Amino acid sequence: MRCQVCHSEMEEKAITVDLRIGDKLILVEEVPAKVCNHCGEKVFTPAITRKLQNLVKHRRKAPRTVKVPVFSLKQSAA
Ligand SMILES: [Zn+2]
Repeated sequence: MRCQVCHSEMEEKAITVDLRIGDKLILVEEVPAKVCNHCGEKVFTPAITRKLQNLVKHRRKAPRTVKVPVFSLKQSAA
């Protein structure tokens, strides 16, 4: 399978997906996806997409929680 964006070869990987729900960020580990080696484009199968949507919808208690530092590159007005 080739990347839709840059047409490079894509590789089957288990990745960590970040999903935003309002101002909440959830991470889902070990998500099977095709990842482009060149531009990083990710493609999920419809079944995986559905699982991710269910996680967001049902908001089950996560088995573990990590603290996520948030940076910004917004220029301060100077
Ligand atoms: Zn690509």
